[in-house]
Amino acid sequence: MITITGATGQLGSGVIDSLIQKGFNPSNISALARSEEKAQALKDKGVNIKIGNYNDYNSLVEAFKGTDKLLLISSNEMENRSQQQVNAVKAAKEAGVKHILYTSIQRQADSSDSPINFVLDSHIATEEAIKESGMNYTILRNNLYMDMLPWVLGEQVFETGIYYPAQDGRIAYTMRSDIAEATANVLMGHNHENKDYNISNTHSLSFQEVAVQLSVISGKTVPYTSPTVEEYKNTLVGAGAPAEVADMLAGFAQGIAQGELVADDTDLPALLGREAVSYKEFLNSLYAQK
Ligand code: NAP
Repeated sequence: MITITGATGQLGSGVIDSLIQKGFNPSNISALARSEEKAQALKDKGVNIKIGNYNDYNSLVEAFKGTDKLLLISSNEMENRSQQQVNAVKAAKEAGVKHILYTSIQRQADSSDSPINFVLDSHIATEEAIKESGMNYTILRNNLYMDMLPWVLGEQVFETGIYYPAQDGRIAYTMRSDIAEATANVLMGHNHENKDYNISNTHSLSFQEVAVQLSVISGKTVPYTSPTVEEYKNTLVGAGAPAEVADMLAGFAQGIAQGELVADDTDLPALLGREAVSYKEFLNSLYAQK
């Protein structure tokens, strides 16, 4: 039995779809969901539904009973994420889970002054709890979703150019669907115990390269401007963005500028058995008709 948390989310549902597409029997999949309503689409696919919440330890122990492999998808609640996920690891241990897989984040080093510590801290705490638990584990160090790149670029990118304080830093943005498929392959495969995988695209792109590709697509020059972090945040907040969103986008930009999300090596093509979707393919498919 494979149990998947965050199953009602985009990555979790993608992993489940991929498993089923590859011939895995949905009756051998359990999906953790916070409510029956949200789980209806999964139920319709023949997946078992377990109601639980990262904040409710006992619900997790109950949900994880009988699980051979547990895919713990990181929570999207930032405030108490470490506690939630450590709860889930302890519950997995108590429920007798044999192998836990966790969606962590790509990074260069665990340094206390990383600009992406606002997401890194809870991932590191969870990885440590997993490794101390004695369960077999697989850490999937996912890069940022390329699906989020249009959000960074903004709707008017062809008119305004790219405005993002990432300097000449690089990032190996990766499609969420590629991460989902690679994760399904790990869940269905063998010999993945006690490994850390880098799940990143092959090429780490700079925003200058994105600007060049957008220029090729549109036939007109799309410039890239890297403002100071302060100027960027003020501009976003001035345009009506919530301060937390501006802080988060700026934090990732600083992480990119510092090289945290560069991938010098990646396990993704090997896990997929093919090349990952490249940024050029993604940008072309998104913008070529516009
Ligand atoms: P998503 O669509 O927001 O899904 C998050 C999932 O977590 C949902 O199923 C949600 O359940 C569940 N969840 C949240 N709080 C929970 C709780 N207290 N108890 C149980 N389940 C809870 O995110 P995604 O796109 O699938 O990405 C998966 C994770 O990757 C995110 O949660 C986040 O940690 C991380 N992430 C990574 C990137 C990246 O670029 N690599 C970007 C964004 C997020 P409900 O459906 O009930 O809300």
